[in-house]
Amino acid sequence: MTSKINKKIGILGGGQLGKMLCQAGSKFHLNLHILEKNADCPASAVCTVFSHGDITNYDDVIQFGKTLDILTIEIENVNIHALEDLEKLGVKVYPQPAVINIIKDKGLQKEFYKQNNFPTSDFILKPNADEIRFAINNGELTFPFVQKSRTEGYDGKGVQVINNSDDLKNLLDTPSVCEKLVDIKYEISVIVARNPSREVSSFPIVGMEFHPTANLVEFLYCPIDLNENLVHLAKKTAIDVANSLDIVGLLAVEMFVDINAELWINEVAPRPHNSGHHTIEANYCSQYEQHIRCLLNWPLGDTSAHHAAVMINLLGESGQAGPTCYEGLDDILKMKGVYPHLYGKKTTQSFRKMGHVTIIDKEIQAAIETANLIKEKIKVIANC
Ligand code: ADP
Repeated sequence: MTSKINKKIGILGGGQLGKMLCQAGSKFHLNLHILEKNADCPASAVCTVFSHGDITNYDDVIQFGKTLDILTIEIENVNIHALEDLEKLGVKVYPQPAVINIIKDKGLQKEFYKQNNFPTSDFILKPNADEIRFAINNGELTFPFVQKSRTEGYDGKGVQVINNSDDLKNLLDTPSVCEKLVDIKYEISVIVARNPSREVSSFPIVGMEFHPTANLVEFLYCPIDLNENLVHLAKKTAIDVANSLDIVGLLAVEMFVDINAELWINEVAPRPHNSGHHTIEANYCSQYEQHIRCLLNWPLGDTSAHHAAVMINLLGESGQAGPTCYEGLDDILKMKGVYPHLYGKKTTQSFRKMGHVTIIDKEIQAAIETANLIKEKIKVIANC
């Protein structure tokens, strides 16, 4: 294979995922362009070219993309119409706009699973809070259920459990998915990668533990102890979803294993994912490098893990807002197999994702013990 590395690759969004994509691309000395409205964003310090603009604005995305060879995303909330037009102009857009369009709307996502016979909890779609109340009154919907805003939710925002009629006052007045509450035993994720030649690979399954109040992943571990049948089913389901979508790039498939060991797809993300941060240090090829390989139609890398790993998200301390300080960093920098990543966000807020720490070890139990120590040592606070 001969390969040119002078292709211009654009990324819509300059957050931590964009930053880590640039870092992976830099290994191959690639030409990586970022579009983002915040010039102080995490990726601005490590990309080849930074462009100032709004990824949801048609003109900004066209202006940015029209001189590029390949365009990708680090967040789904982008201007799809512009991506469709750029595709017509010959820019390779991965993931394809049609795929982003389905995934950015949780309602369309759920319909896709249903139409393709993938296991996902039963649901109905409703345009607003009044219609949800109406559905309860006429018996179409029963308690408890999970209300999810169809668009623009992230990190658990726009998702809530409605247990009883008292909770109805909290209903979000927005187009929603109302789905059956799953009795979750484990939350897992499988990240799949597909290149334009339709080569497919998947990363080992990870377990995700959620922060009890912030509703976002705080703690992630790999490997997870699941029986062989479930491992096989989870991997197969994730790969089948990627193939059905015909996606090019990464697809992170979040699933629930319920108390009866049944598997349910929760949602997917067509981009690098929080549940793959640890692959930078624990796997032969990271999710970020794998995404770059997909974009360039290179052979996919070896996804296997050479170490067990735990990843902790560093969230802004609750109730703190202001200039970012990382307290306790010195302590953890001395520890073996511990890899802190600081995203460089200038200000912290309650539960904002400010960094993460990956802990690798020979055995998962040892990594978990170190992670528990670290959780007590490092804090992201304001104004030190
Ligand atoms: P986001 O897109 O913001 O990450 P999710 O749809 O993944 O939101 O939901 C956030 C969390 O809410 C999930 O990780 C899970 O813990 C919980 N959750 C979501 N859907 C269900 C469900 N049907 N049953 C039980 N818990 C759920």
